Amino acid sequence: MSAIMAIVGRPNVGKSTLFNRLTRTRQALVHDLPGVTRDRLYGRAIIDDRQVTVIDTGGFDPPADQPFAAEVHAQIAMAMEEADLILFVCDGRAGLNPADLEIATRLRRSQKPVIHAVNKIDGPRQEDEASEFFALGVEKLHFISAAHGYGMSDLADDILAHL
Ligand code: GDP
Ligand code: MG
Repeated sequence: MSAIMAIVGRPNVGKSTLFNRLTRTRQALVHDLPGVTRDRLYGRAIIDDRQVTVIDTGGFDPPADQPFAAEVHAQIAMAMEEADLILFVCDGRAGLNPADLEIATRLRRSQKPVIHAVNKIDGPRQEDEASEFFALGVEKLHFISAAHGYGMSDLADDILAHL
């Protein structure tokens, strides 16, 4: 049986885009509006001949005009229950959000391995701006662009190291 990795994070950070890139499908619906993924999606990523089951938890993304705390908590509860590894995604364009800090704290308590990624870093220059995310209290941050592929090979290596 392959390991299960759940992608969690606030709505609109790029979870579904990342899911699609990792699984090389268009299965997960990507939209400019948060909340379009109706249910959680399972996909399969192959990294160097190793297989990992990837879950896009975006099914819990709420409509844009509703508070999302409950849904994000549901995402995390689901990931903590089902996943062997959690990929926590933040939005480097939106900047560090109080909810990101809260999610990081909850994930730390889960005692599951967590990989942290700051998405929407479409080039090396934006990495400097995204260094505020070290306030999450993590040693390793992956600066990635799910849309363009920046940083994906380091991320894939880190996923492999956790399988
Ligand atoms: P989700 O709600 O977390 O699943 O986020 P989506 O994957 O639906 O993406 C939300 C928006 O962010 C969409 O408009 C995406 O095109 C955009 N997006 C996702 N990844 C990137 C990225 O790496 N760079 C940029 N500039 N935009 C991105
Ligand atoms: Mg989504």
